Formats: sequence, structure tokens, C-alpha cells
Amino acid sequence: MIKVLYPGSFDPITYGHMNIIEQACNLFDEIVVAVMYNSRKTGMFSIEERVYLIDELYKDNPKVKVVYDTGATIDLAIKCNCNAIVRGLRTLSDFEYEIQMSQINKQLSENKINTISLFAESNLENVSSSMVKEILGLNKDISHYVPPLVEKAMKQKLI
Ligand code: ADP
Repeated sequence: MIKVLYPGSFDPITYGHMNIIEQACNLFDEIVVAVMYNSRKTGMFSIEERVYLIDELYKDNPKVKVVYDTGATIDLAIKCNCNAIVRGLRTLSDFEYEIQMSQINKQLSENKINTISLFAESNLENVSSSMVKEILGLNKDISHYVPPLVEKAMKQKLI
């Protein structure tokens, strides 16, 4: 049984993240989506709200579990008995960051935990949570980037 950890800030989850989760579901037995939270950074959504949105979207998918943590991703991967970390790649700048993180996490886990990179679908490679927040701030349509549940939650934040 292959269990993987998919960490990120998910503030909020987008169709880009969901595409990576879908690809991971086709490859692995269990995907632990980990909402990683930095208490010094405030986002649009609280940690509970981010977890709630992901939980709701995957409540009928037994392969997807959601957790949250404020510590190091590698410690969480080991604690959850994950075989690997999954990340999504969009651009060259993602690649540069991810290669460093994967090497650090491999060293910190004494070569036990590898990072598996999955590629963004071409129509989603420009989608990031921050981009969607910016588009909403301009009062433009975000329905191509986030599911209706997330769109509604984001609009409520603006009221
Ligand atoms: P962001 O705020 O940039 O969306 P996150 O920290 O929430 O970033 O992202 C978690 C992981 O999901 C990262 O590996 C990131 O590269 C990946 N990811 C985010 N958006 C996409 C996308 N549109 N396509 C593929 N991977 C993505």
C-alpha cells in the first residue's frame, strides 16, 4: 500500500491542487492532504476553514484524508507513515524551489522519504491560490479556477 503526503497552504484549494490530487489518486492508495500553517502568516482562510473545504470536496473519496500541521513537512510525513511526498509543478520557478526542498527533505529523513513531482495540466499551470484571490479582488469570474463551494466561501470573505 502506497501512502503519500501532499502538503501545501491551500488558501484556498483550487482546481490546480485538485488536479494533482486526482493524478495522485490514480497512482497511489492513500493521499494525505496536509494543510501546512505558518502562524506568522495570515491568509484569507483560517486553518479550520481550509481543512473544512477540502474535507467537503473529498468526503466521498475514501483515498483522500486531510490533516493540518504547523511543523516540518518531513516530520508529518514520517508521523503519518507516508512513503513519499507529492508536489505539483507548474513553472520553472516551482522546479527550482521543489528540487531544493526535495533534497533537504530526503537528507532530513535519512534518505527514507522521496518527493514525487506531478505536472500541472496545461490549462491549470497558471492557477495558484494567490492568483485566484487577486482575480476575485478585481471582481472577475473565478469559476474556472475553484469549485463552487470554494467560490462561495471566497465571496463571503469579501462581504
Ligand atoms: P499555491 O498557493 O501556490 O497554490 P500551495 O502551497 O497551496 O501553493 O501548493 C501546494 C502544492 O500544490 C505545491 O506543490 C504547488 O506547486 C502545487 N500546486 C498549486 N497549484 C497548482 C497547479 N495549478 N497545478 C499543479 N500544481 C499546483
